[in-house]
Amino acid sequence: MTTSPAAIPSTYYAHPLDDDKLKEECGVFGVIGLKDASNFVALGLHALQHRGQEAGGIVCHDPDEGFNSARRFGYVRDNFTKESVMKTLPGPIAIGHVRYSTAGSKGAVIRDVQPFFGEFSMGGAAIAHNGNITNAVALRKELVEHGSIFQSSSDSECIIHLMARSLQRNIPERMEDALRRVEGAFSVVAMTRTKLMGVRDPHGVRPLVLGRLGEGWVLSSESCALDIIGAELIREIEPGEMVVISADGSVDSSFPFRPQPSKFCIFEHVYFSRPDSIYGGRSVYETRRQIGVELARENPVDADLVCPVPDSGTPAAIGFSQESGIPYAMGIIRNQYMGRTFIEPTESIRNMGVRLKLNVNRALIKGKRVILVDDSVVRGTTTRKIKNMFLDAGAAEVHFRIASPPTAWPCFYGVDTPEREKLLAATMTEDEMCDHLKVDSLKFISLDGLYRAVGQAEGRNKECPQYCDACFSGEYPVTPSDKIEQGFQMAAAE
Ligand code: SF4
Repeated sequence: MTTSPAAIPSTYYAHPLDDDKLKEECGVFGVIGLKDASNFVALGLHALQHRGQEAGGIVCHDPDEGFNSARRFGYVRDNFTKESVMKTLPGPIAIGHVRYSTAGSKGAVIRDVQPFFGEFSMGGAAIAHNGNITNAVALRKELVEHGSIFQSSSDSECIIHLMARSLQRNIPERMEDALRRVEGAFSVVAMTRTKLMGVRDPHGVRPLVLGRLGEGWVLSSESCALDIIGAELIREIEPGEMVVISADGSVDSSFPFRPQPSKFCIFEHVYFSRPDSIYGGRSVYETRRQIGVELARENPVDADLVCPVPDSGTPAAIGFSQESGIPYAMGIIRNQYMGRTFIEPTESIRNMGVRLKLNVNRALIKGKRVILVDDSVVRGTTTRKIKNMFLDAGAAEVHFRIASPPTAWPCFYGVDTPEREKLLAATMTEDEMCDHLKVDSLKFISLDGLYRAVGQAEGRNKECPQYCDACFSGEYPVTPSDKIEQGFQMAAAE
């Protein structure tokens, strides 16, 4: 079942702008009550591939065959479409996981690939976790000192060991017990022989939705993955909620944790989630378009064209164009096949960098004043390259409008961010970034503007922000205790 780490060169999975984007870490999906549930899970994971491209795994249970699992590096479509793999995953209940990696080993270690499985006295259980446990180092130390033997370097494995140490009589109660010890962000999908479980942390930082397909039930990180299998979106799992779905189709809901203010990740709206997913009854696409509208109101500029930086800047660019009246145009054309063409590029090809993946539409932009709409600026390296491509192609002016506030703080809740010093906005003001990147203008949406765009008409509640926005504000809803132990300094309270 193992795959050689050498078989997955880092360039293989590269998104065109991967070197300068925050990366979502995981997607989770689970099904109960459908024949060959693993096939539905594979499709769901395929729809969630944008949340993690490094590896994927499925665990399933069949009354005759017991538990089975498969974990693979690479895309879901390259692994979980093969008959040789899927026929080993029978049964009416299955969960799956796609992964990039935050906690745990960076890169290729098959034992870090979820779902994780544990055999308890009352039967087996598997879990798949999206998020990041902010006290995992302390928990792991404690567990190891008490005799736990870890198989992986993933923070998520702590949950299995905490379950093993719990004295509760059944697995859902053990999971509750375990998750009470866990701090940070978690959306967990788990299974026993007969039950599918879904849990969101008390702040609800990462998403999790419930869907229905025929007699079966589905749990998914995003609603777009329900669509691919024809399931109906029933509702979002609430922050702090645990649902236990039985083989007979009954759904038990409980709220086992101390209630906390909701802090859904606002960056899911900006970038991580697919635009065809739905949160709070509104599509992510519509929210992103509205971000563009707010951006145009806050930061108008005289120009000839509004162009998206593909693909995530597209809805905001459309909104910007609609609000400003400046024509929308595809100034950048993306090569859809790049990732699979040059699996191991030579040095000379690698030096072409972003040009391999994106090309400026020269005939369109020559002599034009262009507004480029992008979702974020992280290190700024891509912004600079794109600006150079536009100037080389003859653009008269290049203005950047960014659909998120300056990213000045790292995320500790399941998103891969560079260290704080490497974030451009951590060390420079907006004007300094503009000078540094040598663009004609650079403006970000304000935090209040972003909150208005996601449906908070009054903007951000400064006393108790309605979302997690720590990567912009430095206000962490859950203290990142491991990081503080390692020397991370949080923003001083005003
Ligand atoms: S810090 Fe940023 S990316 Fe991380 S959960 Fe909060 S809003 Fe999302």
